[in-house]
Amino acid sequence: MVSKGSDQPNTRLVDLELQQISKRFGNLEVISGLSLDVYKGELCCLLGPSGCGKTTTLKIIAGFLEPDTGTVSLAGREITRLPPQRRNVGMVFQNYALFPHLNVFDNVAYGLRRRKWPKDKIKPQVAETLRLVRLSGYEERRIHELSGGQQQRIALARALIIEPKLLLLDEPLSNLDARLRADMRDEIRRIQRTLDITTVYVTHDQEEAMSIADRIVVMNSGLIEQIGSPRKIYEQPATQFVADFIGRVNFLRGQIAEGAFQLLGKRFPTSQNKWPEGTEFVCAIRPERVRMEEANPSLLCATVQDATYFGPVVRYRVVLDSDGTELSIEVPSPQAVHEPGERIGLDLQFEDMHLFRYSGNRKWGK
Ligand code: ATP
Repeated sequence: MVSKGSDQPNTRLVDLELQQISKRFGNLEVISGLSLDVYKGELCCLLGPSGCGKTTTLKIIAGFLEPDTGTVSLAGREITRLPPQRRNVGMVFQNYALFPHLNVFDNVAYGLRRRKWPKDKIKPQVAETLRLVRLSGYEERRIHELSGGQQQRIALARALIIEPKLLLLDEPLSNLDARLRADMRDEIRRIQRTLDITTVYVTHDQEEAMSIADRIVVMNSGLIEQIGSPRKIYEQPATQFVADFIGRVNFLRGQIAEGAFQLLGKRFPTSQNKWPEGTEFVCAIRPERVRMEEANPSLLCATVQDATYFGPVVRYRVVLDSDGTELSIEVPSPQAVHEPGERIGLDLQFEDMHLFRYSGNRKWGK
């Protein structure tokens, strides 16, 4: 099998396959013809704003919801109508969903007991799984005696002990503080790689997705906007939505005139133009791609409004002299020498711009 709409080589084995999935709740179409291939051993993040259909998609994969149309296949076998307990899928939820009245051992052993494993096999399997999540020796602890991070490790152990073919994680780190989130993120990645388990991870946090995913599926209103590696999604956004949702970006409006891109009173001649004369477009440019120079008549002139220090970078807000357009610029701190009130020149390079036809949406290109 080969993949649909991805930047991966065709040689990788597709493990999970969603084909033309749609789902309605009443009049609301929450998922609209979604197709996705996830490769064997890959960690794929579903990323998008609240309400875009991430959890619904995950529930369809897990079998808690049936799609109205479309199919779900795992390892080449269609499982669309198979009940969750027969899919061999491990699931971890945001709220851990542990049994508070059971100790760690019984929580982790739960899936094996349901599958009627013999007692003498359960003990070593629990010990092995607790070792994997680095909680050996915690068997007798009660759930309320564990920290949030430890509870999430137990939830992970409980999902993994059945040796699932597929691991599904729904916002697993949302209840943890920032430091612990970063640690647990690395921990999930380590375990996922150790087991080489195909994983679908739902998050609305782009930093989390960027740091953990092999590929990110950016969703918007029940549709896929783009599938790609974190780098591809950041550096080559396929749509304005993706450019806006992932990282910081400046949007500028321009027009095709005399066969060239005209932007902020400058002309960018290029052979890449395929749009007719008069086409309005939006240019997206990342703050770190706008170069600040000494003011000079050949450059766009602007005035620094303010500078905010973030440690590794300084973020400037500058306003163009010509039409008052505001831009955000990020400069590595050691090179950030400009002060508020200073006049500067801006150097915009065509190769740093992402160009989209102007759709009439003023949010993306005023
Ligand atoms: P979040 O990041 O906030 O969890 P999400 O992307 O996971 O959002 P979903 O939980 O998939 O979004 O929900 C998508 C849409 O479907 C939302 O508008 C939600 O209100 C609606 N929805 C989800 N489940 C049901 C349900 N059982 N009945 C009716 N509407 C639902």
